[in-house]
Amino acid sequence: MREWEKNFRQVEPYTPGEQPDFPDMIKLNTNECPYPPTPRAAEALRELAQERDRLRLYPDFRAGALTECLAHYYGLTQEQIFVGVGSDDVLSVAFLTFFNSEKPVLFPDITYSFYDVWAELYRIPYERPALDENFRIRREDYYRENGGIVIANPNAPTSIAEGTEFIEDILKHNRQSVVIVDEAYVDFGAVSALPLLEKYENLLVVQTFSKSRAMAGMRIGYAMGHPSLIRAMNDVKYSINSYTMNASSLVCGVCAVEDDAYFKECCARIMRTRAWARDRLAELGFACLESSANFLFASHESIPAKRIFEALREKNIFVRYFAKPRIDNYLRITIGTDEQMQALVNALEEIVKG
Ligand SMILES: *Cc1c(COP(=O)(O)O)cnc(C)c1O
Repeated sequence: MREWEKNFRQVEPYTPGEQPDFPDMIKLNTNECPYPPTPRAAEALRELAQERDRLRLYPDFRAGALTECLAHYYGLTQEQIFVGVGSDDVLSVAFLTFFNSEKPVLFPDITYSFYDVWAELYRIPYERPALDENFRIRREDYYRENGGIVIANPNAPTSIAEGTEFIEDILKHNRQSVVIVDEAYVDFGAVSALPLLEKYENLLVVQTFSKSRAMAGMRIGYAMGHPSLIRAMNDVKYSINSYTMNASSLVCGVCAVEDDAYFKECCARIMRTRAWARDRLAELGFACLESSANFLFASHESIPAKRIFEALREKNIFVRYFAKPRIDNYLRITIGTDEQMQALVNALEEIVKG
């Protein structure tokens, strides 16, 4: 090792789902929306391209237009909203801002696998209480002293959502630390913790445009919470890079929030397809956990998940497989269009019966 290499920060990075790109593939492995975003976004991008001066200038570092329209949409003030480059950026800033205690931050053993990456990167102590045998979060595990709590609701990759009563119970038992609820999938049938913001100044709700608003490519995420939390996050953000939200993301984001009918129709469609796919998978011998997300977490009664994952790959159908303890016999299958899901079912039928 060269002398200076001893000073490198050692990190084990997050591994995103693979991004294959060839014709005729069916990509159900990163929980993207199978439908394009609102057509208004494309229009806004064309307009932006006509005003080249807006590209020459720095964007609004406060992301004013977007925070304002989000505030209006959720009935909050702009001081209660933080926006970032996808919710990964928002969560990363939140970890850096709020988790500076000697006490461990708590999140489940099976959850979004970026949480422990940030904890390691920022040298935050953490513990991961185990989900129960049905992959549910045990609330009692969060009744002890801690330096913060992170709950993905619905959880990933399990797809299971808890109700408001559950989240409030965790808040009631944790008045001394920041509780982050990551609602990346909340629009697919779960209930948001947002109404609890009025009662709990230590609650931060994080959402994203990547899944339900069909804009993973634009990288927009946001957090909602008490102005004192948002202010603290902005102080950290402006200490790293003020201009994170680029001009094109800002205009597209506003369009996505404004076209509420399109957004709702998109979510409703995905939920209908989810119910259909779940039934077809059951007929083929798969058990799916109860999903409130845009994906199913499925396990077959006799064929190992890894083998199915590989067989699907051969057929150019990509789903996600995690070679991790407890979940290594499950597939995480993003809900695609009806046609894509029919093709998946046909392929699985061949694999199961072949
Ligand atoms: C997808 C996802 C995110 C991050 O998505 P962004 O594209 O960065 O907004 C955060 N949390 C969970 C649980 C997710 O599944």
